[in-house]
Amino acid sequence: MSFLFNIRIIKIFFLSLLFIASLCIVSCGELDFLYDSDEDESTSVDTWGQIMDEPADVFVAADLSDAVKNGIVTGLAKAAEVWGNYGPLEYWVLGTEVDAANDLSELYCERRSQRGDLYKSNCLAHNQQSDHGFESYRKVGYDAITSGQASSSMGRNGARDWGIHRFTSSYPFGFDSVLGATPKGEMITVYHEYFHAVQHAFVFSLDFDERDELMGPTWFVEGAAVYMAELFVRKMLASGDLVMTDNNDLDTFKVSFEFKMDSGKQSIDNDCPGTSFKDITYELGCSYAAYDLGAWAIAYLSDLVADENALLNRFYPKLNELGWEGAFQASFGISSSQFYADFDGFLIKDIEEQSLILSDL
Ligand SMILES: [Zn+2]
Repeated sequence: MSFLFNIRIIKIFFLSLLFIASLCIVSCGELDFLYDSDEDESTSVDTWGQIMDEPADVFVAADLSDAVKNGIVTGLAKAAEVWGNYGPLEYWVLGTEVDAANDLSELYCERRSQRGDLYKSNCLAHNQQSDHGFESYRKVGYDAITSGQASSSMGRNGARDWGIHRFTSSYPFGFDSVLGATPKGEMITVYHEYFHAVQHAFVFSLDFDERDELMGPTWFVEGAAVYMAELFVRKMLASGDLVMTDNNDLDTFKVSFEFKMDSGKQSIDNDCPGTSFKDITYELGCSYAAYDLGAWAIAYLSDLVADENALLNRFYPKLNELGWEGAFQASFGISSSQFYADFDGFLIKDIEEQSLILSDL
């Protein structure tokens, strides 16, 4: 089982504000461009939040396998099929080899330059030196492969002001079935990342602080992505809408969530004792508890209104107009402060009782 860890970083990237949610991974080579359908797209018309026909643009380093390429393309397409196809979306995937990473960076920066997003020289320098430039993502994968320690990092790094959803990923080694990771587990990660695009598609402001406030607390942003990915990969595998042929089956939804309850509580106890799950941020050592217990929180809220897809059926369509708290109350029938009090009580129940709210998948 690979480790997932997410961080969120706010930084100034030239004139753009970026933010990043990272997950996990390992290995790398040359340049391979898999999918590009928007050579003539215009950025003059703001199509933000509209369902699109064009599939995601996936760019993978040339040292990555067909299994990795196909896994990412399939994951983004299938998640879009069930949640709506939001874009334009660029998904950049690093491998482990320096030459391949540099070639991918060259392609990326040429694209930024041609679209008027960044100066190419600045873009190349950023990719080489920044904490979240391409080289940093390559190194995560390289270090994982060379150390044998499963670790990965991937995230949506903007960019509303460019009119796109831009993702960067370290080596998604689960699609190659290495370091104990599996293709189906990696598919959950791709769905998780894509759900962040869905979330952002419902927030229209160009102002970073406004966007941040509308997105809500860390537990909500990440818990939603975890819950939706864990649920919908299993639902689509069960229905045959998603076909994966590897022999490693996922844990059941309940087993997966029982693990999250334990790991979330342990993370708080060990790394930020006394902190309420609602106050956990990306910067805290227990940040992963926001993912684990946040996923339970979304399950709890969905159960409250007897709709496992309450986020997309109720919450997100109201978000931009009502704001986070307004959409929360309109969707779930209680204030967030009431929810926090109720959910604290839920968290101390025994796991058999807690698991009654979970789908049987
Ligand atoms: Zn995330």
